[in-house]
Amino acid sequence: MKIKDLVRQNILSLKPYTSARDIYESSEGILLDANENSWGSTFNEIDSLNLNRYPDPHQNDLKDLVGNYYSIAAENLFFGVGSDEIIDLIIRIFCEPNADKVIIPGPTYGMYKVACDINNVETIQVLLNDDFQINVDAIEKKYNKNVKIIFLCSPNNPTGNLLNKKDVLTLCKSFNSIIIVDEAYIDFSIEGTLIDEIKNYPNLIILRTFSKAWGLAGIRLGYCISNPDIIEFLFKVKAPYNISSLTRFALKSALKNSGLKNSFVKSIIKERNRLWNQLESLTGVIHVYKSDANFLLVKFDDPNYVQKKLAGKGIIVRNRSSQSKLSGCLRISIGNEEENDILWDEIKRIF
Ligand SMILES: *Cc1c(COP(=O)(O)O)cnc(C)c1O
Repeated sequence: MKIKDLVRQNILSLKPYTSARDIYESSEGILLDANENSWGSTFNEIDSLNLNRYPDPHQNDLKDLVGNYYSIAAENLFFGVGSDEIIDLIIRIFCEPNADKVIIPGPTYGMYKVACDINNVETIQVLLNDDFQINVDAIEKKYNKNVKIIFLCSPNNPTGNLLNKKDVLTLCKSFNSIIIVDEAYIDFSIEGTLIDEIKNYPNLIILRTFSKAWGLAGIRLGYCISNPDIIEFLFKVKAPYNISSLTRFALKSALKNSGLKNSFVKSIIKERNRLWNQLESLTGVIHVYKSDANFLLVKFDDPNYVQKKLAGKGIIVRNRSSQSKLSGCLRISIGNEEENDILWDEIKRIF
């Protein structure tokens, strides 16, 4: 499979933005090429940030930091302003508006469809099976040559389960399309990452984020792991300086603190198990789905009533009950111990 054959013509012929520092391969010396402020910056609380200068467009610092931490080669990495930016860029690289199509097996994360809608790219909704696994036959039936991307999420939001690796790889093998696997919640599952498969499948893209396990939703940093062909196109279309120096500074500091991330994950999984057992024991709760993520999908008789009651106590949960296969379901994030105690008390009170 040739990735180039899937890329839009205007992207293939695009001449990307270049800076004078690319041409001279230097960002030192007397820099009078980018109309920056040579006098300094108005934000000086952290020395060494040099916020008057544009950050490295090649993301080499980020590739080093994250590549070393997760043992991923630099050529396989690309960083975006959250994974949401990467989702949008991938659609723009591969999908001709008003012509190409995207398959979204659901119920799943709502941003995939929103990003397609913004780009005027038609989405084909295919349902997951009753156990929220991929229905390969249903996808095959809806597939046509204009389908450029299939979006998968594992562990899936909002159902919490990992997708079967075998099914994902079947899609990679069977279809001449980009297969995206969003691993936003992979830290909360014991196994299941597909990053080792990128060497076997040129059309596979793994999405990751620092917004969940790392507790960095505020810095807006996501990344993807894929083959150099795809990574090169992402660099071609991104805004030159998409990742800010402040975000890079926060990431560097956070990676030194990875022990804390690991202890967050451990505590969240422990609390997830505790809440699962508590809710499962309660009459009034129809079902608590097993979760490999940092939330639980919980089925009630009257989810609107439960949601309203909780909101009355200042507890906000996500109502997913209007989506196909999710009737009755609320999605509840795992909070800290105290928050989970309060939630449990209130749910007990409702029933
Ligand atoms: C939370 C979440 C993300 C994270 O998006 P960012 O833009 O990186 O904050 C990505 N995918 C899914 C499925 C999510 O639930």
